[in-house]
Amino acid sequence: MKTFTLYRVNSHTKSVNFILNADDESLNNAEMFSRLIASMITFSFDDMLIQLEQFRTRYERLKTFSAKTIEYITKGKDVNSVLTNEYLVLSEKEDNFFAKYYLEKLWEIYTVGRKNLNKITGFVTNAMTNSGEEKAYRSQLNGIVAEMEQLIITDWFYNHIPDTSQKIIQEDIGYVVLRGNGINEMYRTTELSLLPFLYEYSFCISSIGMKVYECCYCHKHYLSVGNNICCGDEKCLSQKKKDIRKGKKDEFSDIKKGYCGYVRGLKHKLTEAKKSEYAIDLFTDAQNKAEKYVSNAIEEYRDSGKRPDADFDDVITSAKNAMRKLTNRLYKMSDSATEEIYCKMVEGEILFEVDMLVLK
Ligand SMILES: [Zn+2]
Repeated sequence: MKTFTLYRVNSHTKSVNFILNADDESLNNAEMFSRLIASMITFSFDDMLIQLEQFRTRYERLKTFSAKTIEYITKGKDVNSVLTNEYLVLSEKEDNFFAKYYLEKLWEIYTVGRKNLNKITGFVTNAMTNSGEEKAYRSQLNGIVAEMEQLIITDWFYNHIPDTSQKIIQEDIGYVVLRGNGINEMYRTTELSLLPFLYEYSFCISSIGMKVYECCYCHKHYLSVGNNICCGDEKCLSQKKKDIRKGKKDEFSDIKKGYCGYVRGLKHKLTEAKKSEYAIDLFTDAQNKAEKYVSNAIEEYRDSGKRPDADFDDVITSAKNAMRKLTNRLYKMSDSATEEIYCKMVEGEILFEVDMLVLK
């Protein structure tokens, strides 16, 4: 039975889907359709990264096992019983996606190969023949080992925009569309390699600007577009909130300090110019509103565990601009004009830039 894997990488939901061991021949019937849909496995981009990192820790035992399949593909008549036991033990305890995948592939190639070679060599057992068939199976097994080695040594894990050696990669991949019963889904197909998937996953991550970060609390790696300091786990987010409540300083405290200093400077300009009480009151009212606007943004960022980014800079810049414009206006205005504006302002007849900003 020829089996292959279906996969798709979804940048919208930041997740990947797999349908493992799809059967080539019966894809057209309704039973197979529902079986494929039902056997779909989903990983978030982050989970996929974790699976990849975990695979490195599982590799040694897989390496030992794969060496044995290569050795035994040309030995014995039937499938080796010691190897079968090893496979069963490994298969039972393995829960890593990649390790499971390669284990199954090794076993599939070995058992199918042994069966076919047995037919060809017939009663000639334990004979080291050098047939083309043997070579083909051995090279398939070696291919799996070479692929696992790639996952171990390459920068799949941390650098999705590699700057090392230049290469052009061409993979032969097909696709399968599952269409009907309210479903319309397209998957790519891959038979013996997960590399096409890994290239696409890596491409997708770099194309949406995601990078690998390390959580400052649990030290787990995670993917993000923003400049965050902690992962999205409940535990880490609540630890971060606790730290903030405890009064631990973070980047936001410094930014806010800088902002408040800037606004105090503007106010100083008005007091130095001996502007009327009305002007100072108008300024103070706007100052409070703008500060609340900045504080709300900071609160939002802290709650979601995000670090200051371009959008946050926009908040600070627009608050500063609004305060500066108001200052210039009040600076140029005569005392009587300021009084008039003050009355209108109290009546709620006019809005300043700061009001517009806050209302936005
Ligand atoms: Zn964390």
